[in-house]
Amino acid sequence: MGLSAVASAEVDAPSLSALRHWVFDLDGTLTEAVHDFVLIRRALDIPLDADILAHLAALPASEAQDKHAWLMQHERALAEAATAATGAVALVRALHARGCRLGILTRNARELAVVTLAAIGLADVFDAADVLGRDEAAPKPAPDGLHYFAARWAVPPAQMVMVGDYRFDLECGRAAGTHTLLVNCVGDGWPALATWRSPDCAAVLAGLDAAPVQAAYSA
Ligand SMILES: [Mg+2]
Repeated sequence: MGLSAVASAEVDAPSLSALRHWVFDLDGTLTEAVHDFVLIRRALDIPLDADILAHLAALPASEAQDKHAWLMQHERALAEAATAATGAVALVRALHARGCRLGILTRNARELAVVTLAAIGLADVFDAADVLGRDEAAPKPAPDGLHYFAARWAVPPAQMVMVGDYRFDLECGRAAGTHTLLVNCVGDGWPALATWRSPDCAAVLAGLDAAPVQAAYSA
């Protein structure tokens, strides 16, 4: 299945192969999903329907500090054991070889994102300033991280795509005015929020390979 298998709700969406500025979520997008958010919420006494980061941010400082420390320790072990999602490494390397600008925007901590990228063999692809964690910008679904990349790369958001596996990634892209690509999603996902949907990164790459490489924006 290539990108032709990807549904798009937008009749005026450009060709994905024309986009040269890509921002990826990390966990569950470039890696196999391993975070057990129910376990995390139970361990930190966070309501099951609450946003973990927002909940921690609202706690008294000492309690928030202790719980962030637990979260970092828990997530570090996951990062060190991370494995790449289907087709993720090949897609990122192909985009890199085409000269695309590539960023990471994660709700994880930046230092753990770097550990994760090393674990899946992509540490050399991303500039340090192109990896944003939860402490470098307001966490998704806030659009701040994508605003950062648009300014850093000097491109309008409409020439960027936010790639992710969860609603927050798509909402972040919508709020910033980028295109959105949902990958690794089981079920219908969030059709109103996704410019494109693909079963995995391998299908995205297959779609790109089938499209003209030079169909890029002139700007
Ligand atoms: Mg994710």
